[in-house]
Amino acid sequence: MMDKLKLGVFELTDCGGCALNMLFLYEKLFDLLEFYEITEFHMATSLSEGNHYDVALVTGTVSTQRDLNLLKEARNHSEYLIALGTCATHGSVQASVELPIREKLKAVYGDDGNPMRALDSKPVVEYVAVDFALPGCPYDKNEVYQVLMDIAKGIEPVRKDYPVCLECKLNEYECVLVKKGLPCLGPITYGGCNAVCVRSGLGCIGCRGPLPGEVNPAGEYEILKELSYDDEYIVRKFKTFARWEP
Ligand code: SF4
Ligand code: SF4
Repeated sequence: MMDKLKLGVFELTDCGGCALNMLFLYEKLFDLLEFYEITEFHMATSLSEGNHYDVALVTGTVSTQRDLNLLKEARNHSEYLIALGTCATHGSVQASVELPIREKLKAVYGDDGNPMRALDSKPVVEYVAVDFALPGCPYDKNEVYQVLMDIAKGIEPVRKDYPVCLECKLNEYECVLVKKGLPCLGPITYGGCNAVCVRSGLGCIGCRGPLPGEVNPAGEYEILKELSYDDEYIVRKFKTFARWEP
């Protein structure tokens, strides 16, 4: 029988949702364990046996010196590194905070107010080269399952290259932007979640980050202005997950 691939899950500063989401794979996690041996996964096991990983999943942002050290360790000891979740791919909410964190800590706690050696929160992709980036807050479980299965079978995983909007059309969901005037960022947001929020009648808040390439953020901005949303609201919405300027 083929040797199993070594899998490490590394958690930097985040809400824990993306690591937990791996456990929510339920029976599919057992399918993955046919191909993978988990040797590092702080949320799931106290075992920490790895010094080489065929695949490393990294969640969270680099927000402390400890995060940076852990990320470098994961990168240096892995063949294939996946930035998993929007914290890792785009920075998410904590990276949208204005002003340097050190200034904020100093203002509140004085010169000795940074025992955690906090850094300004940044996504993993700003510090190391990644082999695959899978956004989502949290990411879609079926997507990470497919990516890990593809890697196990020697297939390069496919990157999505379409917006959430397309998934609404494929599912024949009513457009909440046009029909209800909701501030939906689906036209400019990375698809792959199967438009799950729109399915529930909600606007997309852009949790998978901006789709690179041909999307038109200026057009989205104008549409939201025409729908009477004010500048501050629109700018905050654009910035929430990806520090994106309209
Ligand atoms: S991407 Fe979202 S769910 Fe995942 S760790 Fe960050 S905040 Fe939590
Ligand atoms: S519809 Fe938008 S906010 Fe909802 S999960 Fe998909 S990308 Fe995230």
